[in-house]
Amino acid sequence: MGLPKIRLTAKKKKTPESEVPAVGPQIRLPKKPYRTHGGIHAENIKNTSNSPSEEMPIPPRVIISMRQHIGAQCEPLVKPGDFVTVGQKIADSQSFVCAPIHSSVSGRVKSVGTILMPNGEEIKAVEIETDGRQVVCEDVKPPHITNPNELYAAVRESGLADLGGEVLPAFVKPNYSAPDYAVDTLIINGAECEPYLTSDRREMLEAPEDIIEGSKLLMDILDIERVIIGVEDSKSEAMAKLHEVISEKELSGKMCVLKLKASYPHGAEKVLVKACTNRIVPMGGIPADVGCMVLNVTSAAFLARYVRTGMPLISKRITVDGSAIAQPKNVTVPIGALISDITEFCGGFKETPRKVVVGGPMMGTALYTLDYPIIKQNNGLIFMSADEVGAIEPTDCIRCGRCVSACPMCLTPVNVQYLVQKRDIRGINDINVKGCMECGCCAYVCPAHRPLVQFLRMAKDLCGN
Ligand code: SF4
Ligand code: SF4
Repeated sequence: MGLPKIRLTAKKKKTPESEVPAVGPQIRLPKKPYRTHGGIHAENIKNTSNSPSEEMPIPPRVIISMRQHIGAQCEPLVKPGDFVTVGQKIADSQSFVCAPIHSSVSGRVKSVGTILMPNGEEIKAVEIETDGRQVVCEDVKPPHITNPNELYAAVRESGLADLGGEVLPAFVKPNYSAPDYAVDTLIINGAECEPYLTSDRREMLEAPEDIIEGSKLLMDILDIERVIIGVEDSKSEAMAKLHEVISEKELSGKMCVLKLKASYPHGAEKVLVKACTNRIVPMGGIPADVGCMVLNVTSAAFLARYVRTGMPLISKRITVDGSAIAQPKNVTVPIGALISDITEFCGGFKETPRKVVVGGPMMGTALYTLDYPIIKQNNGLIFMSADEVGAIEPTDCIRCGRCVSACPMCLTPVNVQYLVQKRDIRGINDINVKGCMECGCCAYVCPAHRPLVQFLRMAKDLCGN
């Protein structure tokens, strides 16, 4: 009896994702998202999804921090006793990675001093006693934009810090589209994947025209070929609104809304670039390295409004949520408003919060005082009761590897804790700890409740990152 015949067929070679060309000759709009690595399905608590934005009354005073985003600190241009108006530039810097700061109120400068930020950093700040009249500055005029240089200048003058995750001064991002980078794709980030936060969802529902107008402005001036608006599938109403405007304006050939699977951290720049284009931003690189520019939906809408009115970034929509707050809501507040005043506007507390977080529960920062002022990068305030914050004791690592599977940056957080304990700098550098975006997925899935994000921060400090 002979051996059975085996038919040999050449196995089709699969192109590794890392070899997908960065910028292809034909740029198409994607029909569905590309696969991304890791991530988690955090409980989708969004209590304020259906709460329309409410404007907070002007508080008696604001404290405007001289650091509003990643990069350099601004220097105050005003002194105690000066009268300031709404939209007046009150601070600026010569540094490239810095945007000017404008007054969100009219009133008298009470002091120019320092405040302690939640991360322990001491920062200069301008305190203004408001007069409630909201007198608008004479310099507030719509900008004239016909070319990229005028766009960079206008976006810088607007004081816009990208209102999504990375919070860079926004003019830095259009600058990435300079010839060195050949950006062909603008990705508008509407993922808003952190639990609780619904500020961007409200922007998509309440101002879809502004989002499309701002995106089109960037596309036209920077000669970008396509716009992909990434929105999680849990926001179908918002997606429908954006679709409608794109069709009305006959932009369907160049702009699309991409339905992303609800998963955290889909809103992180590098993850979003992969999901929308299948391009991989290199370790230590930026989206422009693979032909992409990423901007948050609220930033795109702000740009459209700034071009119409010339009013710089002086207010911010914040989601106020958590089981300790009496009236969870989306509130538009002046930059520099104190958290204590916002809390009062939301009806105070139902019970004493055990933990207060500014930002989302995954990447936010715990606060030690309610006298902390709102800055441009803040998008949420979560007041958690004792039931929401369980006391968790870490136990020994059981080497299950879940943290590795969950890491969207393909890192090995399990090893970081040992390397930090041994102060092994070379080992830390070998595992690319710089690529960690501190999303917290590894700590979220760890059955031993290891404080992995804290270890990762210590590892970055040890390496001087
Ligand atoms: S998930 Fe936690 S227990 Fe599992 S390997 Fe990672 S650190 Fe260890
Ligand atoms: S915190 Fe850092 S190591 Fe942990 S999952 Fe996120 S990117 Fe990976």
